[in-house]
Amino acid sequence: MSLLVDVTAGRGSFTLEVCLDVPAGEVLAVLGPNGSGKSTLLDVVAGLLAPHRGEISWKGRALSTATGRLVPPSERRVGLLGQDPLLFPHLTVRENVAFGLRARGKRDALARADGWLDRLGVASLTDRRPRQLSGGQAARVALARALAAEPEVLLLDEPLAALDASAAPELRHLLGEVLRETGLTTVLVSHAVLDAALLADQVAVLREGQVVERGPRAEVLGAPRTAFTAAFVGVNLVPAGFGGLRPAPRASRAKVTKLRFRPAAVVVSEERDRRENSWEATVRWLEPVTGGVRVRLATPDHPDVLADVDAASVSHLSPGARVWAHVPAEAVQPL
Ligand code: ADP
Ligand code: MG
Repeated sequence: MSLLVDVTAGRGSFTLEVCLDVPAGEVLAVLGPNGSGKSTLLDVVAGLLAPHRGEISWKGRALSTATGRLVPPSERRVGLLGQDPLLFPHLTVRENVAFGLRARGKRDALARADGWLDRLGVASLTDRRPRQLSGGQAARVALARALAAEPEVLLLDEPLAALDASAAPELRHLLGEVLRETGLTTVLVSHAVLDAALLADQVAVLREGQVVERGPRAEVLGAPRTAFTAAFVGVNLVPAGFGGLRPAPRASRAKVTKLRFRPAAVVVSEERDRRENSWEATVRWLEPVTGGVRVRLATPDHPDVLADVDAASVSHLSPGARVWAHVPAEAVQPL
């Protein structure tokens, strides 16, 4: 009883090759950088893009097979909420939400639309036109429209990416509530780790059209298996023995194969750091993070290490600079 997606699909020179299943009632977050194929994946599941090969099925019923598209998008009971809300500009908010229900001949379309608008906190906007809405309001209306159509599978394409920092947290929280209440089987794609952390049961990581990692949320985010995922979710994951690092003592005697530590635990200095758990590294690049700067450090023959430092201390950290990194033993978790 699940959504099964085992397909190869392409757009131009890009190829998506994935095998994923989402148990009914669960939320799968698909994380990946821009261009990794997240929107392509949703388009294939929604039936907007035909796969070259493979099969998509929902609860054992084939939606698409190798011989061609079987079930047209309008009959899939799959709701796609794209990156753009795409509300009809000439219709009111209420008419937008009721549109699909009316098209299916539902007599209580307007009442149901009002119900969803109320649930999503935008009941006061029912008579407005889309151009009179803020980005956050339009996102809520678009979500109401997707839910009002009573899909069995919900596909969300970066539902919060276009929202500003004041609107996104509230809608993320509301989305979490609605997903739990409705128990909808959901594929949510995002480049933001927080969306997966708060909304997903399972997480898959997409890189250049391929799934590089897949598992329960806590495992993928907390103890990623690949360096790509670790860098993407913002944890340092290095092999045991890296830089002579000693972790904090661990109760279990199981063999330690990897060490994990947070970027905020890493101290970067220009001068040689003679403390234990210090190593020499080269600055690869700097990027902004909320409240500071993230420095990517290269060590020969090892994965990069991320360090979060405050903006006042970065003047000497240009790419190529030789520095010393230190992480206290108590901040290093053995895995
Ligand atoms: P994501 O949603 O993860 O950012 P997309 O699925 O939109 O990635 O895109 C994956 C790849 O497919 C990108 O390399 C992009 O340039 C390419 N692509 C997307 N849409 C089209 C299209 N209509 N025609 C050709 N290539 C496309
Ligand atoms: Mg996209």
